[in-house]
Amino acid sequence: MAEFKPCIQEQGMLFPPHIGDLIPDNHLVRVVSEIVEQLDLSDITKKYVYQGSEAYHPKILVKVLFYGYSTGTLSSRRIADKLKTDITFMWLAAMQKPDFRTISDFRKQHRPVIENLFIQISMLAAHMGLISMRHVSIDGSKIKANASKYKAMSRGRLKQEISKLENEIKKLLDLAEQTDRKEDSEDKPDENTLPSGLSSKKERLAKLEQALKDLNEQKPEEKAKNQKEADKQQINFIDKESRIMKSQHHGVQQAYNAQIAVDEQVGLIIGAGLTNNPFDNDQLIPLLKHVEKTNGRLPDKITADTGYFTAENINFCNEKTLDAYIAQTPERKSKKNPFNKINFIYISENDTYVCPEGKKLEYAITKTRNKGVKERVYHGVDCLKCPSQSKCVNHKSRTGVRHVYRTQNDPVKESMRSKVQSEEGKKIYSKRKCIVEPVWGQIKAIQKFRQFSFRGLEANTAELFLVTIGHNLRKIFFSMFPRENKGLLCN
Ligand code: SF4
Repeated sequence: MAEFKPCIQEQGMLFPPHIGDLIPDNHLVRVVSEIVEQLDLSDITKKYVYQGSEAYHPKILVKVLFYGYSTGTLSSRRIADKLKTDITFMWLAAMQKPDFRTISDFRKQHRPVIENLFIQISMLAAHMGLISMRHVSIDGSKIKANASKYKAMSRGRLKQEISKLENEIKKLLDLAEQTDRKEDSEDKPDENTLPSGLSSKKERLAKLEQALKDLNEQKPEEKAKNQKEADKQQINFIDKESRIMKSQHHGVQQAYNAQIAVDEQVGLIIGAGLTNNPFDNDQLIPLLKHVEKTNGRLPDKITADTGYFTAENINFCNEKTLDAYIAQTPERKSKKNPFNKINFIYISENDTYVCPEGKKLEYAITKTRNKGVKERVYHGVDCLKCPSQSKCVNHKSRTGVRHVYRTQNDPVKESMRSKVQSEEGKKIYSKRKCIVEPVWGQIKAIQKFRQFSFRGLEANTAELFLVTIGHNLRKIFFSMFPRENKGLLCN
């Protein structure tokens, strides 16, 4: 018969161990604690007023928040639970048990300081030799807002609903007046004698009018290109600053656009930012400026995907003598349409284009477009005899000749394109997906950050910095205790 070790759960100990003795020396929680001990928390401590009962030490609250964000415990309620049940959290908080309200209020009150803590941790990591600034990759991800997309309404629909409700309210008031007259009463209808449903309609009308006012402040109607575009602009009733965005894997959702810059050496995030602009192309310059603010200088080399491919971004990198590799349209897309402009090769020696059929397009005229942008127009010389004419020339063209437009931005874009497509460029650009893309994967899968917890851009920017701090603490831990200790992370 098998023999088992005795199992007496209620057995007391003569000399109970210290809780810290139960946590291995090479555990993530120790690294988090050690790093927070080195941070300057004076921006937080100076806000405390020394009156009333003693407060929890900010160090403890910072530690549990940072450890929570490193290990996928994001909500204040879950952190408060872990402070009662998880020995790593219990040790970190010196066995103190702030409740969820204390943790949540602390996180709310000290939002403006979180970016500074991110910068301090980056400086510490640089001091430890974990940031090289040799190659930094940039990427954005649409993170779901704390609001449903079904709570959003377009300007056109808002206007319709407002006018519908105004009519309904008018009809109800007219009806009430008629009834009053019939009863020969002189009392005007007040809130107590109003027809049923009137007050709820008025409430809804006030909400819609406020939403329309907010939308007009965010996106003035007159600034839209045309009425169709103005009517399409939306506002969400729950989180007014979030926007409807298309994400790669989740279709259309109410979201924010989070941006990160990741250093090649150990995968630390060295710059971050949050916006409600769904397009990445406007985010490269602010992100690089944040990298500069965090690290005191710009990186030597950056790689960024096609979303950042604009002449403005390339010019910025050139001005800063930054070795940038920004990809243009994905190759598969340009290959799908061989008659896309990017498949026409410009020959600077004789100022002509060569089309995919090997035929010439010659300079014909210069046109001035909106905002004074000048475009040189090139016309195909052999299009009328070309077998590919139906695929290449727009079917509405009266001449049957292909036109290619060249602006002053084209040379900048072409030189970036040939740089990325060179053998060396391909080798460098291919590293981008190994540097920045796994970081988003780790943030979403390990840190369990797939949706913002708060509403509004400012609150969610602070949360993004907490997430990036959580990620960086994990990376510092892995660089201090490589490989052998990966199993000691608590999730
Ligand atoms: S239609 Fe003109 S530009 Fe287009 S492939 Fe033929 S020759 Fe070239």
